[in-house]
Amino acid sequence: MSAMEGQKVVVVGAGPVGALAGLYAAARDCHVEIYELRSDLRDPSTVPLNFTKSINLALSERGINSMRNSGCPGLIDSVLADTIPMHGRMIHGEQSGELFEESQAYDAHGRFIRAADRGGLNKRLLDRLEAMPNVKFFFNHKLTGVDFKKKLAWFERRAYSHDDDQKNSREIEISFDFMIGADGAHSTARYNLMKYTRMFYQQEYIDTLWCEFHMEPKKTAQGDDFKLSPNHLHIWPGGKFMFIAIPSLDKSFTCTLFLPAARFAELDAAPSSVVPFFQVNFPGVVPDLIPAAELQAQYLANPHLPLITIKCAPYHFEGTGVVLGDAAHAMVPFYGQGMNAGLEDVRVLFDILDGHAGVGSATLPRADARAAALAEYSARRARDAFAINDLALRNYKEMRADVVSPVYRLRKRVEEA
Ligand code: FAD
Repeated sequence: MSAMEGQKVVVVGAGPVGALAGLYAAARDCHVEIYELRSDLRDPSTVPLNFTKSINLALSERGINSMRNSGCPGLIDSVLADTIPMHGRMIHGEQSGELFEESQAYDAHGRFIRAADRGGLNKRLLDRLEAMPNVKFFFNHKLTGVDFKKKLAWFERRAYSHDDDQKNSREIEISFDFMIGADGAHSTARYNLMKYTRMFYQQEYIDTLWCEFHMEPKKTAQGDDFKLSPNHLHIWPGGKFMFIAIPSLDKSFTCTLFLPAARFAELDAAPSSVVPFFQVNFPGVVPDLIPAAELQAQYLANPHLPLITIKCAPYHFEGTGVVLGDAAHAMVPFYGQGMNAGLEDVRVLFDILDGHAGVGSATLPRADARAAALAEYSARRARDAFAINDLALRNYKEMRADVVSPVYRLRKRVEEA
């Protein structure tokens, strides 16, 4: 009998990180149960938490490599087929009354990141999980409590969605051998873990909110086309704020305004100032890329959401529980690494677990060896996670302000020639 055979791995959260963790665990002969607060993302009636639609994000080598190592044949090819290479960033501005754009390559050797649809990627992972005989899903189940010593967890089972009447919910108790908490920045798994381990915990809301916009494709006689270069992440740097656009497969762009909370409040108080604000600060966006009425309507309709950064350590308790992804290290999005780092957590964790499972073993180690593995994981991963959180914060200044420096130098040289 294999080491983990018959043991139960409970994954909390069916986001990208929880779904990938489920795949890694299922490939190691355990019974995997995935509990998710919301209804199935693949159900068209499910509204993604926090997002108006599905957000586009930058998928990089960290995340790609982690999916490649999942043991699921063809998974990474199918994910990459639905991405758009972004070879560099395109900086937009205006000088002497003229619009200009400057392409800045991401890598001297031609390596690139990819625009990916977060929901699409998540759905692919869920489809793969569903096809595995040792995986069970429990949607509309909200983790409410965990006893990591007795290895018991409690979930509120909701009759429908979280907007529904609370009367319809009831609590269930389950047992587990190993819990993987991948329940996002406001993690209940982490909150409960803190009662069992002397966890250092630090969180900060930065003074910037974000609001999503949609840029429709250009209509041409030949059909839809991109309004901007599809192989760039587009940035309109504003000094203390910025507007960005990331391409989608349907030739639209998902755009995001990042702005200090006080500036959002000013625009909220005078919505007619939204379009002039864009005209002054993000030249070329309105009306060429987004018509004025649409821009204003989207500003008013879409939520203005906070950005949190979290550091904590250790991530585990003995051999029974660990937190991964945003639950362990939510970060601001400016380095494009939140999900990528979370997917990398999964690969690093299972590499270490495999190392403790015995030579040639394709299963997970038992509780005592798992405790040693999790201690190694926390020690190794916290250093990297703290560093990437800091880099993400630092990269906001790079994107909103520092990227313009080379442009100005270049323009100056051209003007002086
Ligand atoms: P989540 O995606 O938050 O998933 C957690 C899941 O747990 C959810 O499905 C939730 O419903 C469920 N859950 C929560 N509580 C409970 C509970 N009590 N019981 C059961 N289930 C629960 N990352 C990148 O890598 N690249 C980017 O370019 C990028 N851009 C971003 C842009 C923006 C504007 C934002 C906000 C984020 C961006 N990120 C990016 C970050 C990325 O979205 C997150 O890092 C990623 O979604 C984290 O995945 P996760 O699975 O850990 O958590």
